[in-house]
Amino acid sequence: PDLFQAPDYYQLDDLLTDEHKLVRNTARDWVKKYLSPIIEEYAQRSEFPKSLVGGLAEVGAFGSYIPEAYGGAGLDQISYGLIMQELERGDSGIRSTASVQTSLVMGPIYNYGNEEQRKKYLPKLASGEWIGSFGLTEPNHGSNPGGMETKFKDMGDHFLLNGSKMWISNAPICDVAVVWAKNEEGRIHGLLVERGMKGFSTPETKNKWSLRASITGELIFDNVKVPKENILPNKSGLSAPLKCLDNARYGIAWGAIGAAMDCYDTALRYAKERTQFGKPIGQFQLQQKKLAEMITEITKAQLLTWRLGVLKNEGKATSAQISMAKRNNVAMALDIAREARQVLGAMGISGEYSIMRHAMNLESVVTYEGTHDVHLLITGLDITGLNAFK
Ligand code: FAD
Repeated sequence: PDLFQAPDYYQLDDLLTDEHKLVRNTARDWVKKYLSPIIEEYAQRSEFPKSLVGGLAEVGAFGSYIPEAYGGAGLDQISYGLIMQELERGDSGIRSTASVQTSLVMGPIYNYGNEEQRKKYLPKLASGEWIGSFGLTEPNHGSNPGGMETKFKDMGDHFLLNGSKMWISNAPICDVAVVWAKNEEGRIHGLLVERGMKGFSTPETKNKWSLRASITGELIFDNVKVPKENILPNKSGLSAPLKCLDNARYGIAWGAIGAAMDCYDTALRYAKERTQFGKPIGQFQLQQKKLAEMITEITKAQLLTWRLGVLKNEGKATSAQISMAKRNNVAMALDIAREARQVLGAMGISGEYSIMRHAMNLESVVTYEGTHDVHLLITGLDITGLNAFK
């Protein structure tokens, strides 16, 4: 299974620059060497492999497109996408850690923070010395984050924060959390809450059958005194967290292709080697149909993300375009994981192969960062002008 061959049916490599290929191959080699050999064990144990953090920083997975002056990798959007693709070929949970760190923690600090905040947090997050988390979802508000109840009060020399966040990636190990909360007027702002602040706790969420190698938890704020300099000054309102999600969703659209590629590659090899009724199962028309459909869907998804990456580099990608790619590619990967699992028969459920882990992981990926349904409604709103959320 570690002999992964990346499908490139339409010669998409011709559309990439030498830098894109170098970045991609560096991430690919790292995944093969360090991630793939250990990930199944960690997922089975339901443990985040902390030993990978330094390597993630080295391959540019933390702050891929954040300028080098702040410790980031200073890469373009296609390189960022290719890194996410390679990481998720290894495991969606590890890609999630990188997505959160880059787009949901470093992103808002870079885009909405002041110079002191950028200098204080970004280099530490880029090197992996600090891990960040992003607190938007609450127990009573998932798809509708605007209804959030977490709030802060101006106490003169500090803010007093109360409330809780749920289903937060990296929460139990985070050094800093970007927390979205309402002020007394009901306006949403981002606050930087650091581990060690009195009244701030991060219990782990156990019993997950999905993203087991990614640690998830709650963020609980019980009269937390947040220094005034910890508010992100340059953007407020619901669009502030939603813009961060755009960048993460873009990375997920690429990431899902990685998971799909790994499932396809595994199923293709297996179909050529496994014989039943005296011939390789890959010679049966029903198995060929599955494999032919997989490579077709992967190729379409690759074209979608490549074009989206070009638009994003030009600053022209819309939220609705990103939403479409996230929904399409994750659903595509989930379908491929389920089909690929069947190609392997009983072996498909075994941890000897990566497919079942991908399938279970993708059940979270299809739900977080906007559910499949929510993304359908975003496209619906974009094409009809009629808002189904109201
Ligand atoms: P709900 O919003 O309750 O939705 C339930 C169902 O109703 C879904 O099928 C949904 O599609 C459907 N639905 C909702 N509204 C509509 C509608 N208007 N029309 C039709 N159908 C609708 N959040 C963070 O803030 N930070 C994180 O780091 C983070 N990490 C996560 C990690 C994992 C492993 C998971 C599973 C989740 C994570 N989340 C995180 C939370 C995630 O973003 C939410 O779970 C997601 O937004 C959906 O919210 P919900 O679970 O409350 O579902």
